[in-house]
Amino acid sequence: MSKEPIRSIKGTQDILPDQSSRWQTLESTIRNTMHTYDYFEIRTPAFENTSLFLHSVGEESDIVSKEMYTWIDQGGENLTLKPELTAPVTRAFIQNNLGGLNPINKLYYIDSLFRRERPQKGRYRQFHQFGVEVFGSEFPEIDVEVISLAMSIFNTLELEGLTLELNSIGSEDCRNNFRTAIKEYLKPNFDKLSETSQKRFKRNPLRILDTKSLEEKTLLKDGPQISDYWTSDDKDHFNEVCELLDKINIKFELSPNLVRGLDYYTRTTFEVTSNLLGAQNAICGGGRYDGLVEQLGGKPTPGIGFAAGMERLLLVNQKSDETIKSQIYVIGLGDSARSLIINIALELRQNNIRTSFDLLRRSIKSQMRDANKLGAKYVIIIGEEELTKNIATIKNLSNGDQEQIPLDSILSHIKSLPLK
Ligand code: AMP
Repeated sequence: MSKEPIRSIKGTQDILPDQSSRWQTLESTIRNTMHTYDYFEIRTPAFENTSLFLHSVGEESDIVSKEMYTWIDQGGENLTLKPELTAPVTRAFIQNNLGGLNPINKLYYIDSLFRRERPQKGRYRQFHQFGVEVFGSEFPEIDVEVISLAMSIFNTLELEGLTLELNSIGSEDCRNNFRTAIKEYLKPNFDKLSETSQKRFKRNPLRILDTKSLEEKTLLKDGPQISDYWTSDDKDHFNEVCELLDKINIKFELSPNLVRGLDYYTRTTFEVTSNLLGAQNAICGGGRYDGLVEQLGGKPTPGIGFAAGMERLLLVNQKSDETIKSQIYVIGLGDSARSLIINIALELRQNNIRTSFDLLRRSIKSQMRDANKLGAKYVIIIGEEELTKNIATIKNLSNGDQEQIPLDSILSHIKSLPLK
């Protein structure tokens, strides 16, 4: 009786060998740019205490209220697979006293996240983000550096059809006053609001600005604007961010209703969308979170960061990737050739030459077919004649040219060939 094979969990994906080189190229582009901006990598555990997310992302957010993978472990601890990175990185920043070691910390990550969302194109339950978190500077130049770093990675990837949207949700005072005003304004229309907005009205009125409903958008247009509640410092900060972005030729659109879903944001918020994606069109979101370090028990320290979804970047990245090909394939038959082939392959590999040989004890003809399939540039043939004469035949697979060389000069000979 054949068993039903076990399948992967809904919303998770295998990244198979024919896709992994696209991931590697993306990851190396990210790392290279991060390093030119002098950002350093941080890696945090896959799971954390659930309370970390409750106290940062906020109990009313979609992530915390509906999407976390949370469980009580055998020791009775309440744990959660990380659904975002800002809180874990901030926890690590505080716990390891990074602020005491350096007045400014510029950190980056490439990581897997877990959210129990409804899977669809561009939305998964395990997905990947890269991002940065910078602790220590309240000044607009770091807002601009973080935005320009994200845009520079997207430019290097040659992504087209992107829009950078920008807003400031002000300092805490500004948001408190705005919250009162928006509630006041919406109260007479409460019954007309969608169920989601009614919930948000009670728990987190700022998020009503996130609405997708056209009617609610029109209603909001005539209501109080968050910019009317900016303090003069908020206004100066935001103006300076916009001026600096103009000076370095980064195009952006002002988006007065961009509030982002999480509790910890302050002042600058931004999002990058792509017109090549459907409903899930956001590829990157970020902003300032000046109160978060203190909220999580650290010394008051301003912070700013962004996170970009890597699956979505690959969906919009039209650039095709060169598949990696083998360089050398060593062919031979029989017991006496076998150990020689293993030795030749070992020597070539130790010299950074991509080398394969047959592991299925197939015929010479099949081995030749395998070499072609792997895209090898040259084959090294160790046949009976070669074994008796202590030589090897080197064949160029693109033009069929072949030559014979002494066994002990294989490495130097191969190194002299154009292998790329
Ligand atoms: P967020 O942490 O929600 O601000 O998301 C930042 C970015 O991560 C988004 O702009 C998306 O590109 C990506 N993202 C968020 N949720 C998912 C998901 N469930 N699946 C794939 N990508 C996602």
